[in-house]
Amino acid sequence: MSKVAIEFNQYYTYDRLTDYLKQYAEHYPEFCSLEAIGKSHEGRNVWAMTVTNQATGPAEHKPAMYVDGNIHAGEVTGSMACLYLIDFLVGNYDSDQRVKKLLDTRSFYIIPRINPDGAELYLTTPTMLRSSVRPYPDWRQDEDPPGLQPEDVDGDGQILQMRVRDDARGAWKADPEDDRLMLQRKPWDLEGPFYHLFTEGVLRDEQGELQSAALWPFNVASTKYGLDLNRNFPAGYSPLTPGSGPFPLSEPETRNQVEFISKHKNIGGVLLYHTTGGVLFRPHSTMPDKDFPGNDAQMYEVIGKMGTDVTGYPVVCCYGDIWSGVLDDWCYEQLGIFAFTPELWDLVGRAAPELKSKQMQRMTPEERNQLDKAILRWSDRELGGRGFVRWHKYEHPQLGEVEIGGYRMKEFRQNPPRHLLEAECHKINQFAMNYALALPEVAIDEVAVQRVAPGVYDISAVVSNHSYLPTHISQMALKHKAVRPDAVRLELASGMALVNCEAKQEIGHLAGYAAVQNVRWGGGSPAQGSRRVHWTVKIENEAERRVKLRLISQRGGTVVREVELA
Ligand SMILES: [Zn+2]
Repeated sequence: MSKVAIEFNQYYTYDRLTDYLKQYAEHYPEFCSLEAIGKSHEGRNVWAMTVTNQATGPAEHKPAMYVDGNIHAGEVTGSMACLYLIDFLVGNYDSDQRVKKLLDTRSFYIIPRINPDGAELYLTTPTMLRSSVRPYPDWRQDEDPPGLQPEDVDGDGQILQMRVRDDARGAWKADPEDDRLMLQRKPWDLEGPFYHLFTEGVLRDEQGELQSAALWPFNVASTKYGLDLNRNFPAGYSPLTPGSGPFPLSEPETRNQVEFISKHKNIGGVLLYHTTGGVLFRPHSTMPDKDFPGNDAQMYEVIGKMGTDVTGYPVVCCYGDIWSGVLDDWCYEQLGIFAFTPELWDLVGRAAPELKSKQMQRMTPEERNQLDKAILRWSDRELGGRGFVRWHKYEHPQLGEVEIGGYRMKEFRQNPPRHLLEAECHKINQFAMNYALALPEVAIDEVAVQRVAPGVYDISAVVSNHSYLPTHISQMALKHKAVRPDAVRLELASGMALVNCEAKQEIGHLAGYAAVQNVRWGGGSPAQGSRRVHWTVKIENEAERRVKLRLISQRGGTVVREVELA
């Protein structure tokens, strides 16, 4: 347990989130440092927490895991899972040997809330929105089309649905087996009642004023919050993708992420927390697995399975999703990092595990209905029916008598009900930690010094990667030159000189033990994870006898060893 009195049974607004982050930095200065990495559209600071044991070396000298959440406004579970990760790391250093290992040898860069503006609107008003609060398309800043706008008409704090009876034109009818559900009207359904379905809302004119009455037909206005920040990244960006923004990285929130990840060259693993669905999405939307260089597609599956093992969530490749421009694609394509997009909160898996495999396919209306019924049964059983607000009559100011009802979106469909939040955070946390333990970790294993002539010494060292993944992480990283070769540098004291050798010796990249666990990958020898390096040094000034070996691996860490020439 950490010293910060935080509870994972609610969703925190920006001020409370900020306050908790500051508390972690204050109570755990040896582990945590908090910085603002940039501003949001409305000018809020976007916070990044660096977590590592400062006593064992600075964060940038250790292999690093990047975790963020809440790029999509309503996916606030991601923020909570990020806070949970911070809390778990600082609170279990003395009691959990995995955590001790992680903080001593790795760094975490954790950004709980990428999109604080959108999350604030979502958490403090009935509004539902995809991501940024900046109106989009851009012309929506100056004008709004008149029509039916989403609004909490009955003032219960939620925007639900309205059903409006129209036996002649209505496309929907109530399900006779459960009248909470609406079924598609069939051409051979001759007897009503039939209904129109609308998002709960009111009709406004060009000036935004309430219209006095609804004159049929009227326009159903699309949301002005049309941006989707997770379509705004350069990999696979298309202006035709809904919400992708006017150009790649047009938004401050996405620039913050890409700049941060690009600047921290020690990042070797990336997790981007979203909701909902209980799946682990992985790249690539537009590049099939067969075009991944080397064994990258297999490695993606192997790391993904580490996630499936602890969450139960399947790995789903996004190939074929033409609505691309997502961050995990960019991380893999540009930097060769095996980035995942976990969709937290598995309502389908809980309510209808038998339909889980259908979830990613296009369901028939009958299958949807079957799923809805299972979800309602689950809500009745587990939540006393709170997942669905029953249809109730309401005198609408413009439409006359309507019925308002529908699924509770924010803390049922999109995020876990509060009492299930902590368990959700804990589940994905196991993946974040296990993945971080798989990151490469270099070490200087042995150093030998031999005097070959008066004042002349041979120094030899064996350096290795002690962990699972190779120091370059992926073949894509090599292909795109995203990682420098590992190197060992000998740092002499004054009065010493090298004899026929270079101080810095490049050693390529060190394989991890993943390479020998499956020979099909063309791995094989554990020796691929080690190199032996040599220098010859001449001492001209007897006063100085100490040299430094510095092993530098961009993604595997930096290790220094002092050596006495004797
Ligand atoms: Zn999302």
